[in-house]
Amino acid sequence: MAQINPRLIQAITEQPTEDIPESPTVAKLPGTYAKLINRNKDKIKSRCPDNFFMVKCKSCERKGKYNVGLILVNIDQKSRPEETEPNEMAQTTGYFRCKHCNDAGNWEMPIDFNMAILAGMVMHDSPIEDKRCELGTHRLFDGSWHLYCSDAEEHLLDLLTEEPDNAYLWTRLANLYFTGNRPELTACVLEHALSIDRYQTEARYTLGSFFHQIGELELAAEHYKYMLLSANKYQKMDVIDFRHFLADGLNDLFLIHLRSNQEIPFLPSIESMEQAGLNLGNDRKIVELDFELFPDELESFYPLAEMYMGSLRNRIPKRQRRLTISINQKGKKKRHKKRRK
Ligand SMILES: [Zn+2]
Repeated sequence: MAQINPRLIQAITEQPTEDIPESPTVAKLPGTYAKLINRNKDKIKSRCPDNFFMVKCKSCERKGKYNVGLILVNIDQKSRPEETEPNEMAQTTGYFRCKHCNDAGNWEMPIDFNMAILAGMVMHDSPIEDKRCELGTHRLFDGSWHLYCSDAEEHLLDLLTEEPDNAYLWTRLANLYFTGNRPELTACVLEHALSIDRYQTEARYTLGSFFHQIGELELAAEHYKYMLLSANKYQKMDVIDFRHFLADGLNDLFLIHLRSNQEIPFLPSIESMEQAGLNLGNDRKIVELDFELFPDELESFYPLAEMYMGSLRNRIPKRQRRLTISINQKGKKKRHKKRRK
């Protein structure tokens, strides 16, 4: 069973619920990206480690082996929602649904899961690192807390019912699936987000990265190009993080450019920048950009990333800025001389 929420398909396609199977297959996912990514799923690096447990579904009383992903143990009682049951102190990031009845969230976790939590709590300050269990909490962008990834999904789908045209909100859902180890659902949702807003920078970045990883270089370059074209207006991220994120995309673009024997251009053309309504303004006067690019050394891409950030780069503290713009000063000097005469 593909473990897909019929509500997701309903939200994207707006089909009547009765037309959607209770346990949809990947073929039922709208768009083309989900299928393409699903065929190449194992090539995509996951955000969270694999972590399998035999879990019992209380809705149908049947057991199955599921990838629960990262276990996050909240030992700080104050930051937990009130009336938390003791067994609700460990969140899991993996997105999984019952293989038998496709329900989600109604789980009876096995004893070895509780052992893993205990081990995580005891070992958290020991040098032996277990990447499958950490202390902390996971909250959504609106501050809400959810026990299972599928609970968070329901919450976001509720919000999307109210605001179906909010591309940023769709991108939050895509992020949740990505952390949940479901790149095919991520791609499906991002494809939809871009049909609402083709300049959704984060959606472009993630798709660029996916297609790069599965070797679809032209598709990857196309998404990264739009990532750059939309960067100067994107205000949803902290600027320092945003620069690093753009540098990562630029690094991939550079690698794609080299791998395609320079057939795929490294940067968007001036025409496409103007089409995107990018006001190059003073940047046109840049006489020399004094930097060298080194593949996989992301900091070497910071100056270029700052260039695409446009006026957003002014929010980076001065000392941390890496782009030095030397505007052609000749004109000014001449005027100055003339005045002297
Ligand atoms: Zn079940």
